[in-house]
Amino acid sequence: MNLDLPNKTQTPRVLIVDDEEDIATVVAEVARIVGFSPEILTDSRRFESIYQAGEFDTIVLDLVMPELDGIEVLRQLAKMGARARIVLMSGFDGATLYTANQLATAHGLTVVNSISKPFRLEEIKTALLGLLQSTVSMQHGSSSTTHSISPDELHQAIEQNEFCYFYQPQVNLQTRKIIGFEALMRWRKQDGSLIPPASFIPLMETLGVIDHVTWQTLGKSLTDFNKLDTLAPGCSLSVNLSPDQLSDLTLPDKLISLVRQFDIPPERLVLEITESGILRELKVALDVLSRIRLKKFGMSIDDFGTGSATLHQLRQLPITELKIDQSFVADFWIDTKDRIIIESTIELAHKLKLGIVAEGIEDKQTTDALLELGVQTGQGYYFGKPKSLDQLLQSDN
Ligand code: C2E
Ligand code: CA
Ligand code: CA
Repeated sequence: MNLDLPNKTQTPRVLIVDDEEDIATVVAEVARIVGFSPEILTDSRRFESIYQAGEFDTIVLDLVMPELDGIEVLRQLAKMGARARIVLMSGFDGATLYTANQLATAHGLTVVNSISKPFRLEEIKTALLGLLQSTVSMQHGSSSTTHSISPDELHQAIEQNEFCYFYQPQVNLQTRKIIGFEALMRWRKQDGSLIPPASFIPLMETLGVIDHVTWQTLGKSLTDFNKLDTLAPGCSLSVNLSPDQLSDLTLPDKLISLVRQFDIPPERLVLEITESGILRELKVALDVLSRIRLKKFGMSIDDFGTGSATLHQLRQLPITELKIDQSFVADFWIDTKDRIIIESTIELAHKLKLGIVAEGIEDKQTTDALLELGVQTGQGYYFGKPKSLDQLLQSDN
């Protein structure tokens, strides 16, 4: 008989992964004081087996380790579809922590805190205490945190064809007329609840099913296009593609046969891709993107400004539009750095003869300021949230 068993569901378990044993011991001690049951792992090569055996709620992960570094551990966690909450630690620099955090989020993992070494005991204590409180409330079913999704659950939803698009308007900032829509994926569960893409797209990418789901969803949604066209005659439709999809050499042909099937002129479909997606496999992406452009589809760089494309690389890309990331738009009229980024993006777009869309516009003040800078097109809650086709048709009446 295992005397620990009844305790397991009660006491949240934390795994502390750090090659520096003395630091791991201090963290474990603090964890024990606040009420966790801690376990230390100093050899990260054993991470996968220890994690799988342990039912850990929380992982405290050092990024800099000699054998398997923290980034590699994050990759393993993503592959396992891990649900544990992660606290990152690094003695390197703040930028590394930030990047690792972004990467983990892109993998669909939940990073709840990043702590720079050397840290004060109080810092780690506060972080763990906060985690402990939310773990206990989750065990009692009172947490409002969205629950994470398992690969099985996702596969089942794909089989049942439960994914659809919502549409968010893009407007001409001058005339306020709708000139296009962006299709944003939603998971509509059988109980009617809606799950946002941030909760499932990263997992779909990790499991390698995003391409299948995109075609599945596009295939059943392009019939919506004719109805969107009645709401805003001549409008475009923007669709998001994942980085992996750009390495599919047959992508341009598949797109052409799709729009032909629905009788949609290719120039009215805009494909949104991120800088990082293109740069990852530049050669193949260039081949695919060039052929997509030759077939007259529009091509937009999404989240522009958050990636690392150089001017030289941008010039090579057969794109038609830059989409300024919403993080720069949010309060750029009070943040000088954001303003500089937006101004230089506009200048770049003008020089390269590209269209420009600002996303995440939430108020009139931002709209006016962008217009003054020469941005033609905007998207954001101020003009309309993403809605289902039915909701859009209803609100038009
Ligand atoms: P994104 O492509 O950058 O899409 C814009 C996101 O910003 C959308 O979130 C939209 O609802 C939100 N948004 C729009 N206006 C505002 C605003 O004024 N304020 C704020 N705070 N947010 C605003 P959503 O629909 O949750 O989508 C999140 C991300 O999921 C998308 O970011 C995109 O990266 C990804 N995604 C969505 N659909 C697909 C898809 O079909 N395929 C792929 N690969 N990714 C998708
Ligand atoms: Ca987008
Ligand atoms: Ca975006």
